[in-house]
Amino acid sequence: MPSDNTKLIVKALGFFLPHFGRVAVQRVAAVHHSWTWQDTADAKNVVVLGGSFAGIELVTRLAETLPTGFKVVWIEKNSHLNYSFTFPRFSVMTGHEHTAFIPYDGVARGAPAGIFTRIQDTAVGLTENQVLLASGDKVDYAYLAIATGSSQPLPVQVSATERRDACHELQGVQETIKASQKIAIVGGGAVGVELASDIKDFYPDKDVTLIHARGQLMSHFGKRLQDYTLSALQDELKIRVLLNERPKIPADRNIGTSAKLTFSDGREEQFHLIIGCTGQRPNSSVLASLLPSAISEETSRILVQQTLQVLATDASSPDTPIFAFGDVADHGGPRMARAGWMQAGVALDNILAMIRGLKPSRKYEPNVFVEGAIKLTLGKTHNVVYAMDADGSDVMIPAKDGRLDLGIERAWKQFGADFKLANGSAAERVEQPVNGA
Ligand SMILES: Cc1cc2nc3c(=O)[nH]c(=O)nc-3n(C[C@H](O)[C@H](O)[C@H](O)COP(=O)(O)OP(=O)(O)OC[C@H]3O[C@@H](n4cnc5c(N)ncnc54)[C@H](O)[C@@H]3O)c2cc1C
Repeated sequence: MPSDNTKLIVKALGFFLPHFGRVAVQRVAAVHHSWTWQDTADAKNVVVLGGSFAGIELVTRLAETLPTGFKVVWIEKNSHLNYSFTFPRFSVMTGHEHTAFIPYDGVARGAPAGIFTRIQDTAVGLTENQVLLASGDKVDYAYLAIATGSSQPLPVQVSATERRDACHELQGVQETIKASQKIAIVGGGAVGVELASDIKDFYPDKDVTLIHARGQLMSHFGKRLQDYTLSALQDELKIRVLLNERPKIPADRNIGTSAKLTFSDGREEQFHLIIGCTGQRPNSSVLASLLPSAISEETSRILVQQTLQVLATDASSPDTPIFAFGDVADHGGPRMARAGWMQAGVALDNILAMIRGLKPSRKYEPNVFVEGAIKLTLGKTHNVVYAMDADGSDVMIPAKDGRLDLGIERAWKQFGADFKLANGSAAERVEQPVNGA
């Protein structure tokens, strides 16, 4: 039997070798495109809504492939990319939160001048050919791609759209955690597990309880990961884990101080701090007035065809110029950044086909092993990589990693930003002692 490491390497090579071949061809084509694309006054807009993992990939690819006569307009409400993978860690560990907000300046940097515009605004509605913005502005579109993801309260996401205010939100969570002795985390998915384990590992004297509605933590993953996670939390970190419990979180706030939880047997327990890590809300409302039938009544996600075109019974034709992908869409694949990134390629090819007058024909077929793989942290240095195939076979690789900032510098590089500026921008953070490094 090959080891999990061998299986992971074979699978990754099978996926990434052809992928890197395609990327090399794309790079050469992008250089040619930058020499040949011409800015014209009557160019039509391909508009991308949302600037996170899914949206950025499409914007970048559009800016290096759109033919003369088309431009990309990118609408995103935040001033910086919110690198949310690190939010549980930077809700506990102090002094690094400013690095979780990555400038957008590096996106589509090599693209020809004039092909790309970024607008910081919130899309509030659509007509058949315009995006309506909160500022009152309207942006024409010939093609539209919706990658508005989903919303969750602190500490999964911040509500501020400017970096400085967003840092203050994470600092507020850090301070509240520091000041609380008896803490309950409600929700045993990845965020709840990471947050509970970080709190207990950074502050071993605190009394941490993780509460989950299902019989296993990490319910969307396989049994091996579920068992491993439970043991790491209970046996290693001494976190109290309560399963099959669905206590009500105090109604008004996701983070409640000095509040009670009531359990299934009627027992009440007082905590200094309760943090909810449940309940994603897809940001699909932008489509509600134009194509209400495209929003799933069960999930509130945007229904899409395999081409990632919006699937609406009230659309004039199935060949709509509106696409949706990433976490906001009901695409049948994993809800992970890597899936949004793969879907961006599908949306791109189909938009380009439509521009050329062809029928969109590329279909999204999830590679669940690659797209659904997770690296789960279980405290300061312990992590586990887990991936499961469609047939249920899986790999699990536990590891130790001493980078307390989770290697955030690599993410800056990935999005073309200069990490030296993150550390130099002291004006954008409130100085406080670092508790982990
Ligand atoms: C703690 C944590 C760890 C994770 N780890 C991993 C991992 O290891 N690997 C992985 O692949 N995935 C991971 N994920 C999942 C991953 O973060 C999501 O799948 C991914 O963020 C989805 O990307 P998206 O672009 O579709 O949507 P989002 O990331 O939700 O982004 C949507 C964007 O749209 C913007 N927006 C929303 N509405 C509007 C509007 N009306 N107007 C303008 N802009 C708007 C938002 O500001 C945001 O920038 C993790 C998630 C969390 C919380």
